[in-house]
Amino acid sequence: MTLGNLRGLYQQVILEHYKKPRHKGKTNPVHRYQKGHNPSCGDTIELTLQLSEAGDKIEDVKFEGEGCAIAMASADLMADALHGKPVNEALEMVQRFQSMMKGQEEFPKELRKLNVMQGVSQFPVRIKCANLTWHTLKAALEANDPQADSFVTNENE
Ligand code: ZN
Repeated sequence: MTLGNLRGLYQQVILEHYKKPRHKGKTNPVHRYQKGHNPSCGDTIELTLQLSEAGDKIEDVKFEGEGCAIAMASADLMADALHGKPVNEALEMVQRFQSMMKGQEEFPKELRKLNVMQGVSQFPVRIKCANLTWHTLKAALEANDPQADSFVTNENE
């Protein structure tokens, strides 16, 4: 497979998730809510999370927002991958995604769907678009006041 084809494949998967997101909306109930904004592109995202009774596992993730195909597809792929994941594992995934965007790591076989975003690391201006949803997730999971109506920005990353 040539690099050109590989890029085409990434692009196709990204566009598919952008056009037909499977995790758009709000979770019911909403245990965590977080807005995120990427000023360099204008992407905004609102993440809602449903946690397990003990609060240590992610039962469901949904997102709403507006932005470019990469930001929206990344959110949809992330929501897909987070189903049933323990919170500590989700935070590890945030780190792994961010280092994947630096070209340093990729996801293991069971999470390989997330590796389609790897192609984005070749386009530095788009990295913040792909990272936005993960950045927002981290803030949602680490928030002291789970219902705080604040938003995060990745401007300083
Ligand atoms: Zn964007």
